[in-house]
Amino acid sequence: MEGTAAHSASLPGGGGGGEDAEEWTKDVAAYYTNYFPIATVEKFYTQIGPLNMREFAFEGTWKRFGVVSALDLIKALQTYPRPSNPESVSDRYGAYHVGPVYSESYSYLHSSVESDARPGYQRAKEFVIDIDLTDMTTQRETCGCGAAKTALCVACWIWVSWSMHVAERTLQLVLSESDVPVMWAFSGGRGMHGYVVDQYSDFTTTQRRKIVDQLGEPANMEHDKEFWRTTQNRLDEVGYPIGQDDPPPPFIFDRPVTWKMGLTRGIFSPHKSGFVTTPVTPEQVASTTIPRELIPSMRDLRINGPHGASARLLTDATHVVDNYIQRITQQQLQRQG
Ligand SMILES: [Zn+2]
Repeated sequence: MEGTAAHSASLPGGGGGGEDAEEWTKDVAAYYTNYFPIATVEKFYTQIGPLNMREFAFEGTWKRFGVVSALDLIKALQTYPRPSNPESVSDRYGAYHVGPVYSESYSYLHSSVESDARPGYQRAKEFVIDIDLTDMTTQRETCGCGAAKTALCVACWIWVSWSMHVAERTLQLVLSESDVPVMWAFSGGRGMHGYVVDQYSDFTTTQRRKIVDQLGEPANMEHDKEFWRTTQNRLDEVGYPIGQDDPPPPFIFDRPVTWKMGLTRGIFSPHKSGFVTTPVTPEQVASTTIPRELIPSMRDLRINGPHGASARLLTDATHVVDNYIQRITQQQLQRQG
């Protein structure tokens, strides 16, 4: 059956690495040493405050750390905690997460000898919309990936595209703005994060609550029948039709992540699938059938070097971040002008 072929072909995991602990360690080391786009990462994360006031952490061990500069950050990433149990996949990560900007430098807050940390407060963080395909059981009933849990097929990828669109439209409606720039990053597994930076991320609690409530309200999707029709047609084309008269399903996102100022997976972080957490545009997602067409693999980077397909994808992804920063800078200038 065509569906089966589509499933196996579209899994982001296979071929990305991660199955062998020793190879995995080599992949991550090579990635952080030769490919991690530190300058772009620094540009993105310093838009709302300096790096030294932010909190970072390594996934798996949840080792928390602060940095004083981008050089310091890349050094920390290159010495990520090595697995205590090499057979455990979760220990193989090397993935990093980023927390809020605090009122003081991380080193100051954590240098007290009397207690764990001096008091400080969370000053700012990107507003993050966390979409996880694993939770979209209704959407993934038709293609059967819901039951498989770990699968992600061409139909699922269309649902990712649909989710990005719904989130952007909801932000525009709630904030009464025609353009709310969102920078999207695909985790490498089944998650998509949408980051809102600049003046928009300085939401009041009321705005934040309103956005979270509106995102979870399916009635709001009625506004965009045309996009819903496009989504239905695309699902039809790939062989997973849904009823033409069916209303859009509820928009599923992780409320706690969106609501709180916690840690979020860093952009360009390694993912346990062996792929990189990659910034992408809604247009790129809409014009591809599977994530692998957009997401660099650390194994491919290590084996095929700067002339391989993954190196090109990585460069494309840094342009996505550059364009996003340019877009919000221009917006700010227009507002002032
Ligand atoms: Zn699926």
